[in-house]
Amino acid sequence: MVDLVVRSRRAVTPDGERPAAVVVTEGRIVAVEAYDAVLDAAADVDLGDTALLPGLVDTHVHVNEPGRTEWEGFATATRAAAAGGVTAIVDMPLNSLPPTVTVDALRIKRAAALGQCHIDVGFWGGAIPGNAGDLPGLHDAGVFGFKAFLADSGVPEFPPVDPDQLADALAAVDALFVVHAEDPWHLHDAAASPDYADFLASRPHDAEHAAVATAIDAAREAGARVHILHLSSATALPLIRAARAEGVRVTAETCPHYLTLDAEHIPSGATEFKCCPPIRDSANADLLWTALAEGLITCVVSDHSPCTPDLKRPDTGDFAAAWGGIASVQLGLPVIWTAARARGHSLADVVSWMARRPADLVGLVRKGRLAVGADADLVAFDPGATFVVDPSLLHHRNPVTPYAGRELTGVVRTTWLRGRPVTGDGPAGRFLEREGL
Ligand SMILES: [Zn+2]
Repeated sequence: MVDLVVRSRRAVTPDGERPAAVVVTEGRIVAVEAYDAVLDAAADVDLGDTALLPGLVDTHVHVNEPGRTEWEGFATATRAAAAGGVTAIVDMPLNSLPPTVTVDALRIKRAAALGQCHIDVGFWGGAIPGNAGDLPGLHDAGVFGFKAFLADSGVPEFPPVDPDQLADALAAVDALFVVHAEDPWHLHDAAASPDYADFLASRPHDAEHAAVATAIDAAREAGARVHILHLSSATALPLIRAARAEGVRVTAETCPHYLTLDAEHIPSGATEFKCCPPIRDSANADLLWTALAEGLITCVVSDHSPCTPDLKRPDTGDFAAAWGGIASVQLGLPVIWTAARARGHSLADVVSWMARRPADLVGLVRKGRLAVGADADLVAFDPGATFVVDPSLLHHRNPVTPYAGRELTGVVRTTWLRGRPVTGDGPAGRFLEREGL
């Protein structure tokens, strides 16, 4: 007898969407059978027309614990993620204290997270000026790679690297490097203003274009793997296309907010829309969708980067002073599905962008797919149901969101982690470590 069978007429497998029964034993998918297969199981769930997806993999989440747990912690972030159909996250090395730039800091972060995680959690390391010597040890300790900033990160304990320091980091260890690509020489100081256009003008397309060029040069020079984080400006796409054609190992991701929000519709003082790089105009968003459809942008991840509500400066609505970061780990799937289906994309496309490809980026071969041998991380997703985003229903520690009041299509009904429903009791998440790569 197997532990669990989950049946759906809309199971999104690596071969596309089809009726199937996913068979689970000891937390793993052991078979994918016909929808009406006769099976002896301890639990047999028939979702009917509700879709069955692999759990999403979000490789870009800022949890902020320890040190800034009041911004977001492991218990709240992973509970929110599970409610949004995400079963694995990789935590960013900054905004927590200490930042994850040494083996000791990684140990402190793992100790803080222990016993609190409702889904699986892996960690990025950070590359900052002067820590190239720490990178091999961190890599051996299981981080998925290293994040570097080329411009101010927003927190003083995680300074940016210059191109020489980036080259030093790439030479120090054969690892995946993920880069916040904005060039400091093209950024301007934003004047205090509640007008989004003033903030947008301070972070022009040129800043991303120049930084992506720097990152590509570094990847080419070192023969290293470089991934461009949260690409906002479509002007950098031709650079990435040309570099890939040339054989440079560069990939790029974008985020739900760059694809579905636009600068033309950000109200005065609505600092919940502030993030860096910034949300740009709708014509730019259209070009990001084209790049996603083409496979030039490989994945869509949240860049969940919350803070306490006061740091968004709701009193003044000043975009210059407000913290830059958008919290959305619980909402990414319906936000993207709502827009994707309107543009003619399939659920299989969304699963590829938000589950399989992020898993592949970091080498998590047992995550992000409904396939034999994979972890039984499953999501029952009703693709036709609609809801209005009510911040009070978010599990984020601080439910500030630019999606408040939006009607979205697609509701997560149940999330299973290794064959067990995530309920909010008894956190069963595990730490993920890099496998190979
Ligand atoms: Zn980020």
